[in-house]
Amino acid sequence: AAVIVAIDGPAGTGKSSTSKAVAAKLGLGYLDTGAQYRAITWWMLSNGIDVQDATAVADAAAKPHIVSGTDPAAPTISVDGLDAAGPIRTQEVTAAVSAVSAVPEVRARITELQRTIAAEAPHGIVVEGRDIGITVLPDADLKVFLTASPEARAARRAGELKGKDATDLAATREALIKRDAADSSRKTSPLAKADDAVEVDTTELTLEQVIECVVTLIEG
Ligand code: C5P
Repeated sequence: AAVIVAIDGPAGTGKSSTSKAVAAKLGLGYLDTGAQYRAITWWMLSNGIDVQDATAVADAAAKPHIVSGTDPAAPTISVDGLDAAGPIRTQEVTAAVSAVSAVPEVRARITELQRTIAAEAPHGIVVEGRDIGITVLPDADLKVFLTASPEARAARRAGELKGKDATDLAATREALIKRDAADSSRKTSPLAKADDAVEVDTTELTLEQVIECVVTLIEG
């Protein structure tokens, strides 16, 4: 039977690296739901929608055509046929994504897309995000909630951006904390741990240890 795995947690806890590796090891699909919210945000910014205007965002929410490729070895994301993998990682998108993803019409649209992709995955799928275990896939076979100290999360995220100094580390930390606060306090499907999720604190663990831990949880 197809295995459905939900991996949630704040930014910088290693969700993407862990989810991709676990999916590749077990022959499952992989879905980065943050990339979908980033893609719709990029489309809003590119089309002159004021991302702080929830009504304008809601009115436009159904327009962009978002397609996610779920091969863990080469995940893809496109919007209206355009490759969005690069543009969705800009600071501009990162700064706007929490506001866009707080709009209920945006969440309804993306959630439906996610459920369709999960239902169609032939061998099952690892889905990573913020609200997968509670809202998107409440019947998942395994739910994992990854955490890490703010220092560890900022250091990992800053390490992904090459050649950064201490100032950038502090700025990265502030931006992360601000985004987590926004994601945790929104009214619709806030970032939270499901009651039946297994919490894994990754602060003192290597990526390999986290991957091993999740694989064991799935196979166990
Ligand atoms: O995972 P990533 O950091 O790329 O997610 C970007 C943003 O997308 C998050 O900060 C959050 O605002 C939004 N998001 C969400 N629900 C998800 C995944 C991401 O609201 N399931």
